[in-house]
Amino acid sequence: MIDVERIRRDFPILGREVYGKPLVYLDNAATTQKPQCVIDAISEAYCNENANVHRGIHFLSQQATDMMEAAREKVRQFIGAGSTEEIIFTRGTTESINLLASSFAQAFLKEGDEVIISGMEHHSNIVPWQIQAGKLGFTLKIIPVTDLGELDLDAFSSLLSPKTKLVSITHVSNVLGTVNPVSRIISLAHSHGIPVAVDGAQSVPHIKVNVQELGADFYAFSGHKIYGPTGIGVLYGRKELLEQMPPYQGGGEMIKRVTFEKTTYNELPYKFEAGTPDYVGSIALASALDYVQSVGMDEIARYESELCSYALGRLNDIPGMRIIGNAPERSAVISFLVGNIHPSDMGTLLDRLGIAVRTGHHCAEPLMDRMGIPGTVRASFSFYNTRAEVDSLVSGIERVRAMF
Ligand code: PMP
Repeated sequence: MIDVERIRRDFPILGREVYGKPLVYLDNAATTQKPQCVIDAISEAYCNENANVHRGIHFLSQQATDMMEAAREKVRQFIGAGSTEEIIFTRGTTESINLLASSFAQAFLKEGDEVIISGMEHHSNIVPWQIQAGKLGFTLKIIPVTDLGELDLDAFSSLLSPKTKLVSITHVSNVLGTVNPVSRIISLAHSHGIPVAVDGAQSVPHIKVNVQELGADFYAFSGHKIYGPTGIGVLYGRKELLEQMPPYQGGGEMIKRVTFEKTTYNELPYKFEAGTPDYVGSIALASALDYVQSVGMDEIARYESELCSYALGRLNDIPGMRIIGNAPERSAVISFLVGNIHPSDMGTLLDRLGIAVRTGHHCAEPLMDRMGIPGTVRASFSFYNTRAEVDSLVSGIERVRAMF
C-alpha cells in the first residue's frame, strides 16, 4: 500500500506554495519532481566522486566509471534487457529516437522502403523519421487513431508489407493516456520479420516494462520523467541490430583506433556514446530507479490507476466536460476541454490557484488535427498526487467555468 503522505515528504518541492497557495503539481507527463535521494546523489557525486569516466587510471576516475557502469547495470535490470551492451545512455527520449532514426536509416533504409509510425506520436517520434526520409527517400506510413483514442489495429495490419522495414510507436500516449497493445503490435510485426521500436517516455515511469517479454527491438525513455535528473535518457537496442548500425556521433570514447586514413569503432554500447557522458546523470538516474523500485512498480501502477479513475469520475461530472481520449486501457494522463473555454485560459486561471497543468498541443500536432481541436488542458498524475489534489483541480475548473 502506498503511504502517500510519507512519499510526499521525500519530494521537497511538493511542500512549497505558489501565489500563496499549496502547489498542486499535475504536470508529471512533462517532467516529474525529484525525491531527496536523487538530489543527494547528484550533490554527492559532485562533492565526492567527480572525475571524467573511462579515461583515467586514477582512483576517482575509476570510481566514477564504476558508478556509471553500475547505473547501466541498474537500467538493464530495471527494463529487463539481456545485456548492458544493449543500454545506451543518451540525453533523453528525443536523442534516443534521433540516434535510432539516423543510425537505423543509414544501415537499413533506402528509397522505396516504408517505416510505420502512428497518428498519436509525440513530435520526437515523427520528425527524426521525416528528416531521414527526406535524405534517403523512404516513406512514412501512419497507423490511424480511432475516435476513442486507440490505434486502429486492422489498419495497422493492412499497412504491413514487404516494403516495411521498421515500426516505431509510442507505448503510452502523452495526450490521450492510451496504453497501446505493444505486445500484440510487436508479435504482428515480427510475424512479418519487421523490427519494432517503442517510445517509452510515458510508460516506464508508470508501468512495469520488460523489453524482452515485450519483444521490443528498441525502447527509449527519459530519466527526468521517472524522477531522475534532466539530461539523461536511455536507448535500449537489441545487440544483433545495434552491431549492424553505424555510430551516431563521432568523437572521443566511441573509437577503438583513429588514424587519418581510417578509424575503427569501439564496442557496444560505447560506439554510440561519443564524448564525455552525463555520468552524474546516470548515477542519479540509478538512484531514481532504486527509489521507484522501493515503492514498487506494481504498487505505483495500481495507485495511479485508482487515482486516474477517481479523477475521470469527478471530471466527467462537470457540465461541458469533454475528455479527449477514452480508451479502456489507459495511464495517468487526462486531456480535456470544457465548453468553449480556451485551454490556455483554463491553464492560466488554474495556475493562479496553484494548480500546475499543461495546455496546448503537447508536441502532438498531427493528433490535434486528427481530433479536430487546437489543443487540450492536460492533467497528468504521479503516485505522489492525492485525491484531495484531484478535488482541488475539479473545484478550480468549476471556478473557471463560473467566470465564463
Ligand atoms: N515521447 C513522448 C511520448 C513524450 O511524452 C515525450 C516528452 N513529452 C517525449 C517523447 C520526449 O521526451 P524528452 O523531451 O524527454 O526527450
